Amino acid sequence: MSALLESYAAGRWFRASDDGEPLLDAATGEEVARISSRGLDVAAMVRHARDTGGPALRALTFHERAALLKALAKHLLEGKDALYALSTRTGATARDTMVDVDGGIGTLFSYASKGVRELPNDTVFLDGGLERLGKGGTFAGQHLYTSRPGVAVQINAFNFPVWGMLEKLAPAFLAGLPSIVKPAAQTAYLTELAVRQIIESGILPEGTLQLLAGSPAGLLDELTVQDSVAFTGSAHTAGILRRHPNVLDGGVVLGVEADSLNCSILGPDVRPDDPEFDLFVKGVVTEMTVKAGQKCTAIRRVLVPADLADQVTEALAARLSSITVGDPRNPGVRMGPLASLGQREEVRKAVEALRAGAEVVHGDPRGASLLEGDPERGAYMTPLLLRARPGAAEPHDVEPFGPVATVLAYDGVEEAVTLAARGKGSLVASVATHDPQVARSVVLGLAPWHGRVLVLDRDDAKESTGHGSPLPVLVHGGPGRAGGGEELGGVRGVLHHMQRTAVQGSPDQLTAITGRWTTGSARADSGVHPFRKSLAELRVGDTIASAPRTVSLADIEHFAEFTGDTFYAHTDPEAAARNPLFGGIVAHGYLVVSLAAGLFVDPAPGPVLANFGVDGLRFLTPVKAGDAIAVALTVKQITPRSGADYGEVRWDATVTNQDGVPVATYDVLTLVAKTWPEG
Ligand code: NDP
Repeated sequence: MSALLESYAAGRWFRASDDGEPLLDAATGEEVARISSRGLDVAAMVRHARDTGGPALRALTFHERAALLKALAKHLLEGKDALYALSTRTGATARDTMVDVDGGIGTLFSYASKGVRELPNDTVFLDGGLERLGKGGTFAGQHLYTSRPGVAVQINAFNFPVWGMLEKLAPAFLAGLPSIVKPAAQTAYLTELAVRQIIESGILPEGTLQLLAGSPAGLLDELTVQDSVAFTGSAHTAGILRRHPNVLDGGVVLGVEADSLNCSILGPDVRPDDPEFDLFVKGVVTEMTVKAGQKCTAIRRVLVPADLADQVTEALAARLSSITVGDPRNPGVRMGPLASLGQREEVRKAVEALRAGAEVVHGDPRGASLLEGDPERGAYMTPLLLRARPGAAEPHDVEPFGPVATVLAYDGVEEAVTLAARGKGSLVASVATHDPQVARSVVLGLAPWHGRVLVLDRDDAKESTGHGSPLPVLVHGGPGRAGGGEELGGVRGVLHHMQRTAVQGSPDQLTAITGRWTTGSARADSGVHPFRKSLAELRVGDTIASAPRTVSLADIEHFAEFTGDTFYAHTDPEAAARNPLFGGIVAHGYLVVSLAAGLFVDPAPGPVLANFGVDGLRFLTPVKAGDAIAVALTVKQITPRSGADYGEVRWDATVTNQDGVPVATYDVLTLVAKTWPEG
């Protein structure tokens, strides 16, 4: 008997009290492992996540969490060979495994990078700018995101045992939520191995990742408001979860990624000798055969202009004929078996249902000619292409979760979009076209029904990541039948797990709460120029208020001549007088900003290392010759960079004229040494 998989629960590895159910090799039918969760205390897992994992994670800043994700990604890269070897037993070819294992590790790297670049080195994320709520400037509002003191339960499908876990774990971890991962039984041995590697590395704080191998019975009963469930799998199971009382009435947030009848459209502009024709055919065949079509993003419906339907069908059939099927251990095999004999039976049933509205034009639903492998014990199937009869409903309703696609003919862009929408909401659609007008009409028609749309043409084909690849930086999820969930999408996927709150108060209170200086709150002048202070010495609110400087006509003329910016408003008094906004010569906005820098800068070498940008520059009031401008520069936000001996300082710059009226506002971005003098 093979080994019983263990769960990682409440800080230890747990072995069930029975022998469990066998999990079979997809290609050979041999037993790989057994699975059971009998005797597992799921309530203790939830408590452990809440009491141990959550607090440990929320004590870390976004940057610290990101650094752990990066370390984890590097660690998993080192253990990749073992994951690759075991992955073969799920039926995956080397190409399939790359999508799962490397794709999962890549997602960790991507989130690690986003976490540092786009989130603050803090535990709070500020959403948008300050909203002034009172005329006197003493009352304002600021939206912010905080971590929920809950648990993220992640229920995954069998098709991506590594990527499926990591793509849900990474954004939840960054958001400060501990995860309980429940892999699909069929391929749980691969997830278990990855979790073992993670736990043994000791990189993640205890309690932030737990594994539930086996039935999750009773798990949802333990969840409450602040907890969430992210589910990928069948619409049937999604329905069961949606009806759980804790989801219906208990405030548990449920995200669903379920069935999806994704389509790919050949644009009406494309002729058989255009590059887009071949790209389209290649794309469809790739999506049908990678992971033996067991991908939530695979192309199920192939929409083609009616006059090209025969030609496209022939081209697809010809290309599919070259796909070798068999045991994934044989390097000559392009497509492995389905995950289990049970899954093959499900796909065969789906094909039978499809045949009510379509006929098989390539492949045999019952037979498979194999390069290598046992057709009885391995869940093999040849790729199947169907051709829909006009008006058929089945291709829009039945999801064959295997190497199966149906060709449907359309007449005009409008009908193509209407047919696509009959899928009732999908994860992804693609359109092959080189005509920008077609691209716009099709994409805008498809967008409300899809989470992602790919436009494929000769210009992007070489670099295109393809129809079926969810990317960590782009939204993954779709409306309607696809479940209505939204995962990934860079920082969007992180904020999705957090609570947004509008906080109202005085500027001083908002500064204290957010850690970011708020317009209207106190400025501190310590008598030391802030450019002489290291990052460790600087405080939010530290200010340099400059003396005034009068802007002369000679300054404006000099700047115009020196830079070559001789725009009439700065050089031609008569024309400038006719300008309805200025009514005469005005100083260049960039002159004002440059003079302001001259007013606030402290020139001697010091802790300020560089100015790396300006954000939100607005010129509010024209500056005319004779006006006297002054600038107040205030430390707005201090962000130490992990692993560097400097950090970022964001300064609020407000330039005013002699009447105290703001003429320009902006943020100055600098890099400041953590200590000064160095060392
Ligand atoms: P399921 O919905 O049966 O299983 C998905 C996950 O849910 C598994 O981890 C499963 O665990 C778990 N699960 C099952 N029942 C419950 C329950 N009552 N409470 C909590 N969790 C539960 O889908 P499969 O993975 O078996 O795939 C079946 C079909 O789903 C496919 O043929 C395909 O049509 C569709 N599918 C769609 C995907 C998509 O993203 N669009 C992805 C994968 C599948 P266990 O394995 O232990 O039963």
